[in-house]
Amino acid sequence: MNNISFQLNDEVIMKKKHACQTNLWIITRNGADIKIKCKNCGREIMMDRLEFMKKVKKVITNEKTAN
Ligand SMILES: [Zn+2]
Repeated sequence: MNNISFQLNDEVIMKKKHACQTNLWIITRNGADIKIKCKNCGREIMMDRLEFMKKVKKVITNEKTAN
């Protein structure tokens, strides 16, 4: 995925499952680095945008939080 668009609080599905067996995360920081929080266990991890784009499978746009 090269041209992926996402914003803060979007839910994302990652290619790899977390240690807790979920692959659903939420974006908690959107900048030069991306921070995502595991929806299941609450663990947060940070990575740079390039790495994030390589690892993300799908962005679930959170319509209800859009202005
Ligand atoms: Zn987890």
